[in-house]
Amino acid sequence: MDENKELTRGERLRKDLAYERKNGYDRVEPEELEAVEAYCTGYKQFLDAGKTERECVDRAVALAQGAGFRAYERGMELKPGDKIYKVNRGKALMLAVLGQEKLDQGVCIGAAHIDSPRLDLKQNPLYESDELGFFKTHYYGGIRKYQWVTIPLELHGVIVLKSGQSIRVSVGNGEGDPLFTIDDLLPHLATDQSKKPLHEAIPGESLNILIGSRPLRNDEGKDRVKIAILELLNRKYGMTEEDFISAELCAVPAFSARDVGFDRSLIGAYGHDDRVCAYASLAALLQVQNPRRTAICMLADKEEIGSEGVSGMQSAAFDAFLADLCASQNVPLRACYEKSFCLSADVTAAYDPNFAEVYEKRNSAFVNYGMGMCKYTGSRGKSGASDASAEVVAYARRVLDAAGVIWQMAELGKVDQGGGGTVAAFMARRNIDTLDAGVPVLSMHSPFETVGKLDCYMTFKGMKAMYEA
Ligand code: MN
Ligand code: MN
Repeated sequence: MDENKELTRGERLRKDLAYERKNGYDRVEPEELEAVEAYCTGYKQFLDAGKTERECVDRAVALAQGAGFRAYERGMELKPGDKIYKVNRGKALMLAVLGQEKLDQGVCIGAAHIDSPRLDLKQNPLYESDELGFFKTHYYGGIRKYQWVTIPLELHGVIVLKSGQSIRVSVGNGEGDPLFTIDDLLPHLATDQSKKPLHEAIPGESLNILIGSRPLRNDEGKDRVKIAILELLNRKYGMTEEDFISAELCAVPAFSARDVGFDRSLIGAYGHDDRVCAYASLAALLQVQNPRRTAICMLADKEEIGSEGVSGMQSAAFDAFLADLCASQNVPLRACYEKSFCLSADVTAAYDPNFAEVYEKRNSAFVNYGMGMCKYTGSRGKSGASDASAEVVAYARRVLDAAGVIWQMAELGKVDQGGGGTVAAFMARRNIDTLDAGVPVLSMHSPFETVGKLDCYMTFKGMKAMYEA
């Protein structure tokens, strides 16, 4: 448009007064697209290295050490600019960059989670049925069970022997590794199954993983397939069947993170929820130098099952870490909390034109429209939401706009269509001003979720702006 051209009254009013949402690709500087691509390459590597919360912690710690972070121990002397981390039981991670201001001025927290929906093995999982070997599973988080059959699966986790010795298990993502799968009915015999509603067609107890079929040779005993598998497991891990009792083994989709689309504008992967925000919070913190306020990155476990448990966001582990930092400056924890700000970084639902009926278009997040901020989540009458105040939302707008972050407002779906929540409520309960924000996702909680690269990068940029505000 000719800049000197006189606007009509209507054009001027529309320009000055109306709120218009725009695709991020029409707003982003072309030079910035290189940074988007470079960032997403790092993110895809993070995804491939971390298929469970434990693996994500390991990878995050390695990245943090590379950026000059050191393990925190209670009582350690701290000065502005110091970079520290604390692992909670191998499953959650807290990192901090000490600010110029004292902790009584509050901290800025980026809180995300690194657990994702999956199939956990039961504690007595191994059995044989009609000469096929299986693992029994108990699904973790909100999955749509029909999506988890007939896809390749990997097995990740730990076996802790009675002695306390911990053995890492990772089968499927190594070169030449075998995979696992769950079988489904052939269409030819699915007449009855096909009449069932989606949530009943594949019952939870039928999610049994096929793990072998070759019976022990020259043997007359029972369960020859199972015994042969136990022999393999014993050789590889030094375990017996009883050791499954103290194991945490998870079956996860055997998909690596890949570009999606002819234009490579999207990333398809298992576990975007919530590793896409976890990586954004982490990568941003690793770049923060001498912030005004102390910047904290929290990578929590157990969000997908309610943030319960000792490694979840409701655990006092977070308070203990912050209390220790505060003690080093003789600041009461409550004084720190009440001046703090938290960006609860979790994914939101991206508007999907294939299922338009469940979204309310004016308030949905769109792929490529940037980081999605949610004033509230919850279900029905905002039940379970932390519902950030207008003041907090205004603060975030100010910081993000000043840093040139492309962002949008988001709401999960139509009123009364369902709903959800995340760690925001648990941070708010601590007397910390909290706002939800994160990357819009297509096919959330499925084995292969999809996100837009531009949104991934803008969430990283937004987290960095918050830490540095
Ligand atoms: Mn999540
Ligand atoms: Mn989730």
